[in-house]
Amino acid sequence: MAEFSITNTTAPTTDAARHAALADPGFGRYYVDHQVVIDHIDGDGWQDPRVIPMSEWALHPAAAVLHYGQEIFEGLKAYRRDDDSIWLFRPDRNAARFVHSAERMAMATLPEDLFIDSVRQLVELEQAWVPVSENEQSLYIRPFMIASEPYLGVREANNYRFAVIATPAGPYYSEPVKLWITPNYTRAAPGGTGTAKCGGNYASSLVATKEAAANGCGQVLWTDGAEHKWVEECGTMNIMFVTADGELVTPALGSILAGVTRDSILKLAPMHDLTPVERPITIDEVLDGVASGQIPEVFACGTAAVVTPITGFNSPDRGVQKVGDGQPGVKTRAIRQHLVDIQYGRAEDPFGWTQRVC
Ligand SMILES: *Cc1c(COP(=O)(O)O)cnc(C)c1O
Repeated sequence: MAEFSITNTTAPTTDAARHAALADPGFGRYYVDHQVVIDHIDGDGWQDPRVIPMSEWALHPAAAVLHYGQEIFEGLKAYRRDDDSIWLFRPDRNAARFVHSAERMAMATLPEDLFIDSVRQLVELEQAWVPVSENEQSLYIRPFMIASEPYLGVREANNYRFAVIATPAGPYYSEPVKLWITPNYTRAAPGGTGTAKCGGNYASSLVATKEAAANGCGQVLWTDGAEHKWVEECGTMNIMFVTADGELVTPALGSILAGVTRDSILKLAPMHDLTPVERPITIDEVLDGVASGQIPEVFACGTAAVVTPITGFNSPDRGVQKVGDGQPGVKTRAIRQHLVDIQYGRAEDPFGWTQRVC
């Protein structure tokens, strides 16, 4: 484990205030008392891993991230089990994806073990902030990296800052979601940044989320950039279709984000009598299948949202369409429960996905 210097906060959250926060954490409303910071200095590499009190940063107004958007992030959770031990779920996948995202954005790459050590440091120190498992609460951990070098020329920055912050969280979408199929916007294109977890992908997606809301939907279902024909993902979640023939179909990797939850669910599918299938699928196949009953269940998945039932679609071409009877499906609920039970240590972990912190 890398050596971290630790500077304790002089103003820790009181037990009473933390208990009040954990009683209704929301998402991103409260933050733990410390953060991990590691700076990358050109020529010297990653410097001085440290845990410091949660506070604002000083950043030069010319810092490259503020102008050209070199920023990447990750999201994972720490789960408290019934015996009070605290566990992570597949943090190695997040560490590896962080390297992939950094490479795509021409940023410095953080060694995977340093990423995992940083997460462990913060979670261990802030274990009191990990909520009890009731209502599927957890501590959401947000590692991220920015280009910190002050420089206005356009090139990749030389200096970067990596940090980890954390926020107690309940489930992100507490209700099933309807998806808007936008005719106007594109999230990703071949050769673009769709496979990187970068802030820019989100920045460009927000206008479409507003359009979705205006059309009675909670999220966008993105289609491909060239033809608006092939299903991609939801932009914070990957998407999956349960078929009447017992398949679990999800768009193949390419310009979508390779979700850890997506990968995990594909591996659990056979235990639910579903054959996992990764292949291109058109929006027409989906909407026809939903209409005919060939696709009785649809759900989206991601760390923050876990498994979110999709109960309807709306699009300019085909209007509002309900999935099944408009309620979360049987397979959807079973897979969701299975995944959550593994994460909280209530079900066997056949793939060795969970790692104990403390
Ligand atoms: C983070 C993210 C997901 C979900 O990935 P998980 O690893 O399962 O959390 C899906 N799509 C996009 C665009 C994302 O940023």
